[in-house]
Amino acid sequence: MIIKKFSKSVHIEGMELLLRRLHVDHPLYEKVRKDIHAASAGDFGEEIILKEIEQLRLPYDIHIYHKLLLRSESAFELDILLITPFGAIILEVKNIVGELAFQENPSQIIQRKENGEINKYPCPATQLNDYKYQLFQFFNDHNIPIPVDGAVIFASRKSFVSTSTNKAKILYKNEIRPYLRKIQIQKQLLTAEEMERIRRIILRKNDPFTYFPLTKHFSINPNELIKGVECPKCKFIGMKKIKHTWECPKCKRKDQTAYRGAIATYLLLYKDSITNKECRDFLKLNNRHEANRILTNSDLIKVGNTRSAFYRMKPFNQS
Ligand SMILES: [Zn+2]
Repeated sequence: MIIKKFSKSVHIEGMELLLRRLHVDHPLYEKVRKDIHAASAGDFGEEIILKEIEQLRLPYDIHIYHKLLLRSESAFELDILLITPFGAIILEVKNIVGELAFQENPSQIIQRKENGEINKYPCPATQLNDYKYQLFQFFNDHNIPIPVDGAVIFASRKSFVSTSTNKAKILYKNEIRPYLRKIQIQKQLLTAEEMERIRRIILRKNDPFTYFPLTKHFSINPNELIKGVECPKCKFIGMKKIKHTWECPKCKRKDQTAYRGAIATYLLLYKDSITNKECRDFLKLNNRHEANRILTNSDLIKVGNTRSAFYRMKPFNQS
């Protein structure tokens, strides 16, 4: 049974917004573009694996969760979590193609593509072991004494592991079936009611809203971003505020609420609050009262009443 279905990575949307605000000759433009590509490939791999699991007819009950962000010692994100009567299973999915070699000391994975390109990535086995530890602690904190197991899964047929590791179970996509069949040999530990209780706790504690300003994440000076309101039609950045509406100087599109995208972008890329002055600067407005109206209509929380007042995002509504 699918408890939390596939959803696109939220960071991709943020990175796409960031990319649109970077000049093509910015030194980090390529890096952001590549990261978007990698994140999209990651999502694609996870979707493939989820479909594979959904199609399995297992002789026991299974709860499937896609992308969970939980907190124990620190925040940790699980690609796929399975809760079975025998315990929890974390699947760390990688969609990296080419020849892959696990290395130790330091742990990393080296990718050799067909075209000779070589890349290195953090070791997914080390990641998995950390998540196993953290999930075990999380369950402990919530009085759920169950074993936590897991595997690293390579989603693509074009992945070829030339040097494996014994730090964790490493699987190709077609090995999921026998892997999940085997766990049944263990003793049944959870009843349907207990799995239901775990479901409620996990969904309550899942906190997908990890705020981090993307300029900070990429070490980009916020002043280097292209400022202005983006045209919803032709994507030109620099709509003009005219009476009662915004107008695109390029395609002449008029849109009363075009500023909303710019405010959301600011909060995602710069920081989680905005002042009147910052709003005028980012939206290229020169009217304090206009900025005030915009901020009041932006579904934000006002903090303070003086000239130094600022507006903050509302806390994320947990499902
Ligand atoms: Zn336009």
